[in-house]
Amino acid sequence: MNNDNLDLVIVGGGLAGMVAGVRAAERGLRTAVLEKGADVRYPCNTRWSGGIIHVAYTDPKEPEVALRAAIERNTRGFTDPVLMDAMAHETARVIDWLRAQGGRFIRAGAVAWQNWMMAPPRPLRAGLDWEGRGPDVMLRLLADRLRGSGGTLMLGTVARTLMMHDGSCIGVEAEQASVVRRFTARSVVLADGGFQADFALLRQHIMQIPEQVKQRGAATGVGDGLRMAREAGAAVTALDCFYGHLLCRDAMVSDRVWPYPELDGIAAAGIIVNPVGARIVDEGMGGIHMANMIARSSTPLTATLVCDTTIWEGPGRSARIPANPELARAGGTIHRAGTLADLALSAGIDPDGLSRTVAAYNAAHRSGLLAALAPPRSSDRYQPMPITSAPFIAIPVCAGITYTMGGIRIDGDARVLREDGSAIPGLYAAGATTGGIEGGPFIGYVGGLSKAAVFGFRAAEHAASTLRGTLR
Ligand SMILES: Cc1cc2nc3c(=O)[nH]c(=O)nc-3n(C[C@H](O)[C@H](O)[C@H](O)COP(=O)(O)OP(=O)(O)OC[C@H]3O[C@@H](n4cnc5c(N)ncnc54)[C@H](O)[C@@H]3O)c2cc1C
Repeated sequence: MNNDNLDLVIVGGGLAGMVAGVRAAERGLRTAVLEKGADVRYPCNTRWSGGIIHVAYTDPKEPEVALRAAIERNTRGFTDPVLMDAMAHETARVIDWLRAQGGRFIRAGAVAWQNWMMAPPRPLRAGLDWEGRGPDVMLRLLADRLRGSGGTLMLGTVARTLMMHDGSCIGVEAEQASVVRRFTARSVVLADGGFQADFALLRQHIMQIPEQVKQRGAATGVGDGLRMAREAGAAVTALDCFYGHLLCRDAMVSDRVWPYPELDGIAAAGIIVNPVGARIVDEGMGGIHMANMIARSSTPLTATLVCDTTIWEGPGRSARIPANPELARAGGTIHRAGTLADLALSAGIDPDGLSRTVAAYNAAHRSGLLAALAPPRSSDRYQPMPITSAPFIAIPVCAGITYTMGGIRIDGDARVLREDGSAIPGLYAAGATTGGIEGGPFIGYVGGLSKAAVFGFRAAEHAASTLRGTLR
């Protein structure tokens, strides 16, 4: 395909970019997806993901009103209502569209939010395991569909600058093997996946020491789309939160214990302490929140999860890929002791501090005064459990960052907006490079794959409708 005079150029070949590409090509647009990865199995968060499409932990096939309520609940009202409506309305339709492309899904577990997992599923064990699993298969399928519809996936192509004319986007300048090429197009979609792997941006907006936070993903999102959009006059949302999980601290040096198991469920039942034995977060806010709080601290690699045998045998076994027994199988560090004092000595925590903290926590649990602790312990989302049954357990933890929640401001059609709310003609953004639906003071999570698929689809639909009648 000639690189000039394309209808749609898309930056990034994750789910957002590939859905946009296939849908646009299917609608007759001359389409190219530029992907910086050079290999056909180029890394990206989509390919490495768990593959479950959900909307704020709700089955996307639930009625729209239920999906809106779930988004409201999870973000505590932070979400842009226009984006929320798009998610509630479109996610189920995009799943059907993916199935019509040949995409396969299975029901992953007993809980309804896991009803739409890309097939085949990954095995339920610790570590990174993506090859031949549902998301990898889905991306390869979409690449085939793109080619089949006359579109092009250009690997080894790094988008650098948007081409602008009179305030409209008219293409992208990109680098292929150190050669600069210009792709002129009537519209461009930015779908580069976020800025989680750019330490300067992370330092500026989220955390002090990104080197001490585990990249819990492909680390391909370095903020190129955000930078290009800003240069083109785009508004950005708050950039201060990320989606991620609590991991065993060994993940900093061992690939055997990430991206799974996540330790969120155990931590939300037990406590997280620092080396002097004091609690440092509201564990009741859940793992994504805890990961953000630990990442923001000045000492991210000093937090330890403390629980007891009842928690270890309960919430410890209940995750899809459970810490108990997967963490031990993968060789992750787990301290066990018959007394809290011995546990503290083994885990490098001040014994008196830990005993005081656990005593105060257990007393507050008994008397229903957890909210009066410092920091307060909320109990409306996750059930706190007392720490009383030996052996006691301590796991050194770290924060894992998967993707940034804030980013380019868009409307419900994925059009990139300026500060004054007007759309930049010819410019769209989709997926983890965008903001407005997730984050906020409570760090609400809505779903990375649903966000990518919905706004990739919406971008293509809008571009196709706008260009209809003017296509060559
Ligand atoms: C381990 C793990 C488990 C997950 N599980 C789930 C789950 O079960 N459910 C869920 O909803 N979400 C999950 N997520 C999150 C989800 O995968 C992401 O939010 C989603 O895939 C983002 O899609 P995207 O297309 O926006 O970005 P990506 O998939 O990251 O794709 C972006 C692409 O852009 C390319 N790119 C970047 N810069 C440039 C440039 N300058 N030029 C050209 N190309 C560029 C990158 O190489 C990459 O291929 C998980 C993520 C991980 C890592």
